Amino acid sequence: MTLSRIAARVRRIKPSPSTSAADRANELRRQGKSIVNLVVGEPDFDTPPHIRQAAAAAIEKGATRYTLMAGTVELRQAIAAKLERENGLRYAMNEIIATSGAKSAIYNALAVTLEPDDEVIIPAPYWVSYPDMVLACEGTPVTVACPEANGFKLTPAQLEAAITPRTRWLLINSPSNPTGASYTAGEYRALAEVLQRHRQVMVMTDDIYEHIRFDGQATPHLLAVAPALRERTLVINGVSKTYAMTGWRIGYAAGPADLVQAMDTLLSQSTGNCCSVSQAAAAAALDGSQDFVAESVAIYKQRRDRTLALINDIPGLHCSPPPGAFYLYIHCGGLIGKTTPEGKRLDQDGDVVMYLLESEGVAVVAGTAYGLSPYFRLSIATSIETLEEGCARIARAAAALR
Ligand code: PMP
Repeated sequence: MTLSRIAARVRRIKPSPSTSAADRANELRRQGKSIVNLVVGEPDFDTPPHIRQAAAAAIEKGATRYTLMAGTVELRQAIAAKLERENGLRYAMNEIIATSGAKSAIYNALAVTLEPDDEVIIPAPYWVSYPDMVLACEGTPVTVACPEANGFKLTPAQLEAAITPRTRWLLINSPSNPTGASYTAGEYRALAEVLQRHRQVMVMTDDIYEHIRFDGQATPHLLAVAPALRERTLVINGVSKTYAMTGWRIGYAAGPADLVQAMDTLLSQSTGNCCSVSQAAAAAALDGSQDFVAESVAIYKQRRDRTLALINDIPGLHCSPPPGAFYLYIHCGGLIGKTTPEGKRLDQDGDVVMYLLESEGVAVVAGTAYGLSPYFRLSIATSIETLEEGCARIARAAAALR
């Protein structure tokens, strides 16, 4: 099939850069090279036993058929209870929809709301999929660079300047992938003041990393701070990261009933309901013991602290402690302009990342993928031994530069 048969909106998008980096690392591993893969953004833990058991029980009970499009009543009740208990937000059953991962919830929300050339404000660094999802829905991503000096966060003045009559959505991801940046209640209040003046702007809050915090702080919710935004906010979340359930594919959205109904209709004519067995597992995750969350976060924190110390010991690299999520977004400006032993000059973060992979077999993702350079992202969702080995290799590669 020639590329010309593929629709223009799909030709505008590219495969996820983190997936491509992981593919390249796997290819090198197949060739026999020793690879330390610090690319993947998924917990390395198994799904907790009580969640797996709930899924097994669901299979035995015959919960293997189509469910309601928006998800089972049990799951939506568990989501509603979670939103109230953890975020202080109240949603009715018809304001909640379960989807095949948070990814699908975000995509569907964009698909049912964007007219061609509608704008979506995306603070950068951003999760790699946001701009491409907007493009796939024929919208225009408006990325706003949020430098490290501002904690990688969008300021009210930047928001004000980015809004136009065509702005349809503001996308907020706190804690953020890739920087871990997390908005405080006060920062949300200031952003909400700007939004009050621009009623055409809807807000999507991607809360997928809300529980993965290292600073002992609870993650505030925009809607808890600015309840007036409820009628134009869509809350996105899921069980992938919090409960080590990436493969189960359960995410959800909560928001105005008409928006949720439109998503329901689109899903009913495209993917259909999300997996019945996974829905039972997700309900058990939300309703059951939350011990795993605290235990895994304590482990992520040890890894973060150790890796941060090792990275900040390497001349040319710098990373400030991320308050949440499970990544380090490492400034590599000190390596730019240097030359490799093979005589290649490192002109940008993509060159640094390629050099780390080819010379020492360390796989990370270049900052260009997240919209702010010169950086690279390192995932700490792996064992401390792997992280130590990765940092030792990065240090060796950096020391070999001239
Ligand atoms: N949002 C962000 C910021 C993410 O990092 C990810 C996963 N990489 C997702 C959403 C998607 O999560 P899910 O597995 O639930 O689709």
